[in-house]
Amino acid sequence: MKFTLLSLFPEILESYFSSSIMARAVEKGIVSYRNINIRDFAVDKHRTCDDAPYGGGPGMVLKAEPLAAALDFAGAPHLRTLCPTPSGRPFTQDYAKSLSAEEEIVLVCGRYEGIDQRVIDLYVSDEISVGDYVLSSGEIAAMVIIDAVYRLLDGVISLDSLAEESFVEGLLEYPQYTRPEVFRGLKVPEVLLSGHHANISAWRREQGIMKTRKYRPELLAGRKGYEI
Ligand code: SAM
Repeated sequence: MKFTLLSLFPEILESYFSSSIMARAVEKGIVSYRNINIRDFAVDKHRTCDDAPYGGGPGMVLKAEPLAAALDFAGAPHLRTLCPTPSGRPFTQDYAKSLSAEEEIVLVCGRYEGIDQRVIDLYVSDEISVGDYVLSSGEIAAMVIIDAVYRLLDGVISLDSLAEESFVEGLLEYPQYTRPEVFRGLKVPEVLLSGHHANISAWRREQGIMKTRKYRPELLAGRKGYEI
């Protein structure tokens, strides 16, 4: 899968693609990426990419011309093009799953007050919010989206790991423990040491339901079989 990113600060993204599990996915050829610097498409001598908003108000807005030229260069008119923004559609695990079926995705990283609406109208297929809060940059939101998507691709993470994660069955995941058996007086739950797989499964399911009920009761609303 290919990710093409348009940004004013491509160096932020470069370190993400060259570290850890993502670096291995790139090395294996599962993921490829292109970082495009929007500033390379600014035409004036100061390479201006932002300007004051029409109608007044604080902050600056990313200008349409350099962004549109960068998007044309990226081939965006023919590709799924995402624009992270707090005013977009909420990003979820199901959304990530559906994006993982694409061969190539373009992401436009906003800054300041956001980007000129006409670029969104002309090029963007999905405006996506990664949560009900405001970040200062689209690069971080783009990394959130890419991270949730690429780890679902074949060969990145074991299928076992993906099968039991939060949201997969509409529940939050159960608590995890590793050695030592006792840490600062807190003992690992006995059942996890028992080797009894059916009991371990039942305990984990129950814990997942309890955690979901505590933090995300709306995930259980209207669903049967989640009583403990
Ligand atoms: N003026 C915008 C608003 O109130 O909706 C906020 C702009 S924010 C300071 C700058 C950039 O960060 C946005 O253009 C977007 O790319 C990114 N961003 C901030 N919060 C985000 C969120 N919750 N989801 C996705 N992207 C976000």
